Parts: sequence; C-alpha cells; structure tokens
Amino acid sequence: MSDQDYREVDPDEVVDISDEVIDEVTDKNKSTEDKKDNKPTEFCYICHRPDNITGPLIKMAPGMSVCTDCMQRTFDSMGGFGFGGGDNSKSNVDMSKMPNISFLNLGSLFGEGPKVKNAHGTQSADKEDRPAPAIDINNIIPPHKIKEKLDEYVVGQDYAKKVMSVAVYNHYKRVATGTMDDIEIEKSNMLMLGPTGSGKTYLVRTLARLLDVPLAITDATSLTEAGYIGDDIESVVSKLLAAAGNDVERCQQGIIFIDEIDKLAKKKNTNQRDVSGESVQQGMLKLLEGADVEVPIGASSKNAMVPTTTINTRNILFICGGAFPAMDEIIKARLNKHSSMGFMADLKDKYDEDKNILQKVTVEDLREFGMIPEFIGRLPIVFATEMLDEDMLVRILKEPKNAIIKQYQKLLELDEVKLEFEEGALHAIAKKALDKKLGARGLRSIIEEFMLDIMYEIPKDENIGQVIITEDYIEKKGGPRILLRTTGLIPEKAAAN
Ligand code: ADP
Repeated sequence: MSDQDYREVDPDEVVDISDEVIDEVTDKNKSTEDKKDNKPTEFCYICHRPDNITGPLIKMAPGMSVCTDCMQRTFDSMGGFGFGGGDNSKSNVDMSKMPNISFLNLGSLFGEGPKVKNAHGTQSADKEDRPAPAIDINNIIPPHKIKEKLDEYVVGQDYAKKVMSVAVYNHYKRVATGTMDDIEIEKSNMLMLGPTGSGKTYLVRTLARLLDVPLAITDATSLTEAGYIGDDIESVVSKLLAAAGNDVERCQQGIIFIDEIDKLAKKKNTNQRDVSGESVQQGMLKLLEGADVEVPIGASSKNAMVPTTTINTRNILFICGGAFPAMDEIIKARLNKHSSMGFMADLKDKYDEDKNILQKVTVEDLREFGMIPEFIGRLPIVFATEMLDEDMLVRILKEPKNAIIKQYQKLLELDEVKLEFEEGALHAIAKKALDKKLGARGLRSIIEEFMLDIMYEIPKDENIGQVIITEDYIEKKGGPRILLRTTGLIPEKAAAN
C-alpha cells in the first residue's frame, strides 16, 4: 500500500455524524435499492397498495400518502354530488364555481393528463379522424351558402341569419389572411338582441357546428371581476380551450357566446361599486379586442397546481346575446321623440303594436340601456332576432332537419308505428307555447306532455300500426286516433285508456 492511501486525520476535521443523518442516508440507499428491485417503499393510506404497484404517491401530510387512483376516486365521488369536475346534474351546488377551488386531472401531474396541443400543432392527434365540416373555415364559402346551410336547421330569422353569415364570412377571411397590408380588418364581434326562445343560442350553436369550430357558451350573470365570487372573465376562454379538446390552435379560432349580456347594464343612480355589471363590461374589453390570456388547462380556475397555457383571443369570434327587456320602451321613446316634431308628427302609439321593434335598435339606445360605449364599440355588428309567431312555431315543429316531430316519428318508426300530427294539432301546440311566453323553448315540453302516454302505451300492443295526434287531443277534448295493422281504424281510442 502506498503513502497516498493513508493520511493522518486532523481531529478538527472529524465531523460528528448524528444517528439521524445516518438513518436518512441508509433509508435513501434502501429506497433506491428497493426501487431497483421494484420493492415497495410506501403504502397508500387509503387502499394500502404499495407504490411499486400504484406509481408515485402524493404526500398529503407526514406519514400519509395517497395513490393517484384513490385521489381521483375521491374527486370523482365529490363530482357525483355536484362538487365540480363530474356530473353536476344531481345537485345545484357547483364547487367548480367557487373561487380558488379547482379539480385537477391527477394524471396531468404525472404527464398523462389533458394534453395541450400548441399553436404550431405539434400534437395534432385525432385531427385526422374528424369528419369534414359543412363549412371549411380555411376555404370559406360565400355568405349566401352559409345562410343556406343555416336555413336547414333554423326556421325564419332571415335577417339575423344574413347578418351572421356575412359577419362569419368576413371574420374567417380575416383570420385566414392575417392582416391585409396596412389595413387591419376589424373584428366581426356581434351583439344579438331578441326575445327569449327566439333562437339566439340555437343560431350560434348551429353555426359553430356547421363550421366545426369549438364553442363556449357562458352566462354573463356568472361572470365577475377577478377576485370576486363567481367565474372571472377569463374563465370563458378556459371553457373554450376545454371545448377545443385542449388544442390551442383550434381554441384560437373558436366562438364564445356570452348570453344574458343585458344583465351587465350599468345600474342607474348608484354610488356603490358595481362588481357584476359595469366593471365586468370593462374587464371584457381587452378580451373582445384581442389579448393574450393565461388559462389553466383541464380546470376552471388558476392555481399553483394547475398547468397553464397562453391563448390569444384576437381571432376568437365573440357573440353576445340578450333579451334586453325594456329596450322596446327606450326605442319607442326615441322614435316618438323624432316623429312628434314638425310635419313628421305621427300617432304616439304608432310603435306600440310593433312586435319587432328591437330590430330598430341603435348604439344610442344601447348606451341609454346601460352598456358602456367602449363595450358597444367592440361589438360592431348589432342585430335582433324576430319574435316568433304561431306560424313560425308550427314550422319549427315540423321543418328543420332535426325537428321535434321528426324525432318522435323516428322513435316510433323503430317500433314500426307511423306517427302523424294533424295541422290543427300543430297549431294548438304552437298556441300553448305562445301563451307560455317562452318562444320555441316551450314547444318541446308541451309535446312531451302529450307524447308521454303514447310512448308508454304503444309498445304494449303490437297491433298498433299508426297514431294520429288530433287537435282535440291537444286541447284535451278527445284522444289520438289509433289505427291497427290488420283491422284499420279504431275510432277515437285514447292511447291512455
Ligand atoms: P334564446 O337563446 O333566444 O333564448 P334558444 O336558442 O335557446 O333561445 O331556443 C330554444 C330552442 O328553441 C332551441 O334549442 C331550438 O330547438 C328552438 N328554436 C328556437 N328558435 C328556433 C328557430 N328559429 N328554428 C328552429 N328551432 C328554434
């Protein structure tokens, strides 16, 4: 052995290694050794499975670690009671709406969670599987063709469909070309007014489906300024990202529909700080115009545990909708003021009977209603849907590609039963819907009420070949007509009997 192998140790150099440190070192060595041998080092506090089976455990507290399966199951079971993340239909409480509470996909912590496809499309999986859209946004068809497609689903509302088709055409042309020389084409964000149930949401939904772009629908009443209870404004972008399957590129070409925008009107005569109205309008300005927004992936609110990504809202089409109650009074007052002067003087009640007075709305009226000028300025396309009348409701019942009546006919066809509605029955249903003042929204519930007995009774008797819904049945004066396969007509037999 050479001199180099030994040297005298200076007593000052000797360090006292405590038992604790030794324990820790041996523990570490043990654990790496164990891992090498695939031996368990820790056990899940809930299911007691070892970590060599469950994968890395999540440390909750000293001596208490939980596997990802158990943690996810806990979250899922909370979701079942309406605590966000899962199926909220069973409860009114939605914890995901609470501030600072978000539900993670735990897989994302270990790299198996929601995958983000970036703007360069590096993760463009499942794009190829998508069926070709009715309207290709990269090769967008002219407005009249877009309207033709909308006509297949949406009855009436010709003006609204025309305006939307042109706006969408221009919007996606702008998206496709980027900027044109020095001339920046303005964003075609829209503001759609119209009575409840007149098809505002349905128009937007149909459009998004035809264009095959992601759509997020939010209620303006749920939005608040960041820091207050409720969803902060940027959460709408987060919803859109989820609708786009976490594909940033797709998200940036999507549509955001903000319903009940009229609820954000500035409150008159108030000195209090207005958290939900005017300041939310203020907060939305940047988003509408185009801004970079940091949004969480796979969760509804930002926190340290959730990965985030940046979305640019420049090419996102914003459509705001609202019923704007009392707007008709503002418009009438303005029109009457003009028409009561000079020789243009008119009858004061000239506009009282005008059901579609909303279509005469101007920027001035919107300001008077309480929308702030900067907000209106960012929604350059303003239009209104028509109030639906009885004839239109009847057409809605039977004409669209997926009309309610067609859906019931298809259902009964599977039982080899033919279903027909008398014209009078359709008008009776439409009248009932008009009475409810819910627009077309009331139609389904009325029809469902009458179809329940029929759907219940028909499978009982194999001889039934045809059912005719009569006006009397809808008006509760008689029953539907039932025809048997072999013998023909059985007079006035109520299905309920
Ligand atoms: P709004 O948003 O104006 O309150 P919706 O768009 O939610 O009304 O309309 C409710 C339902 O009524 C839609 O889901 C759709 O089935 C039907 N509907 C409304 N308007 C039309 C229409 N013009 N054509 C076809 N169906 C319509």
